[in-house]
Amino acid sequence: MTYQFPEAEPYRIKVVEPMKMTTRSQRERILKDAHYNIFNVRAEDVYVDLLTDSGTSAMSQDQWAGIMIGDESYAGCRNWFHLQETIQDITGHKYVVPTHQGRPAENILTMIHIRPGLSALSNMFFDSTHAHVETKGGIPRDCIIDEGLDGESDHPFKGNVEIDKLEEHIKRVGREQVALILVTVTCNNNGGQPVSMANLHAVRAVADKYGLPFFLDAARFAENAFFIKLREPGYADKSLKEIAREMFSYVDGCTMSSKKDGLVNIGGFLTLNDEAKFRQAQQYLILMEGFVTYGGMAGRDLEALARGLKEVLDESYMANRVRQVRYLGNQMLDAGVPVFKPIGGHCVLLDMKRFLPHIPQDEFPCEAFCAELYLDSGTRAIGLGQLAFGGVDNETGEVIYAPLEVVRMAIPRRVYTDNHMDVVARSVIRIYERRDSMRGVKITWQPEALRHFTAHLAPL
Ligand SMILES: *Cc1c(COP(=O)(O)O)cnc(C)c1O
Repeated sequence: MTYQFPEAEPYRIKVVEPMKMTTRSQRERILKDAHYNIFNVRAEDVYVDLLTDSGTSAMSQDQWAGIMIGDESYAGCRNWFHLQETIQDITGHKYVVPTHQGRPAENILTMIHIRPGLSALSNMFFDSTHAHVETKGGIPRDCIIDEGLDGESDHPFKGNVEIDKLEEHIKRVGREQVALILVTVTCNNNGGQPVSMANLHAVRAVADKYGLPFFLDAARFAENAFFIKLREPGYADKSLKEIAREMFSYVDGCTMSSKKDGLVNIGGFLTLNDEAKFRQAQQYLILMEGFVTYGGMAGRDLEALARGLKEVLDESYMANRVRQVRYLGNQMLDAGVPVFKPIGGHCVLLDMKRFLPHIPQDEFPCEAFCAELYLDSGTRAIGLGQLAFGGVDNETGEVIYAPLEVVRMAIPRRVYTDNHMDVVARSVIRIYERRDSMRGVKITWQPEALRHFTAHLAPL
């Protein structure tokens, strides 16, 4: 049975945010002033901003109403108890630690578990989690299935952990040398690809066999639950909340960036079932974020998050969310544009190795495309390729090539209409049609680390 997606948005618009309209010649000047790096462009000079889906959601009338009943008491505000109950109800986990976004939750989790030399295993660690494992001296290892890295594979759960690889690693280094397993749902790094319930169950079995703690990076837990409902036998008639609850039942806790499926602009949390670890987490929280009943958030933020976590599990919201991301991706696929398949939960990935095969990776096809896309329609996307992940070997001077050269278009939740998606799709298709005339870019200045955020570029 095929799922009946809604035809359009299950909400109407009460407040509007006007956008600045720019002409191509204005955008040419703006881009030049920004040294051809889309990160340096002011947000108000962007028309459709697909840089990220993080913290860019539109809140509902119910969330905004919740903001007005924020209780800003230092300790024990009522919004905290609402949030705590909501999270316990969704996850079934015992203890909740509020944080101002996802990474402090990761910091606390890794402070508790990682010791120098220990491995941490995942399907794919998100960048900030990867860095938190490494800064504690740990060794992050990705154990994703091979299909997960193949842009043309139609595997329904490309975020799955390769169970053999996971177990093999534990056997090779020894159980005592592994700190934890953490699975990212949906898997952000390969384009929001889901993890199946069967896979989570299988990872739990490995964790139990070796006595290892197992956590979820739950930033997009609700999108993952929806894909399970769509694609995994036995879940079609279950509610998203029931599915989410089962996902969380296999783990000992989770880290959450609420800037994604929390439907808020800031916020996060950590959940745990182990009381001793929870007490330790609270100590770190007080040291780094704030008191145990607010973490880094204001009372009003806690309330907006409690309400957002309920709304994200509303199936009419979620079906429309996934429908819109596909609506964008399918238009491009139908025109022959090389899009990673299947289309993920929160973004569309364009494969620049196939889109601009005549531009070598060290001439930064992603950044050349992003600049062209901005000029064409004022759309902002992000390049995840050579500029972000490649470089030059300090000793040999040889170029180190990034494995993938992809442009990511992440769709903010409830923010843009299908008309905006049409603008973006048409713009990408126009560029695809004239791709042969495009040239690469060169670096004219770069910082020592994380160069893609601030580097200066120029067209070749
Ligand atoms: C955004 C994100 C994080 C980090 O959360 P922040 O709120 O940005 O600190 C961690 N994991 C995943 C999968 C994410 O998408």
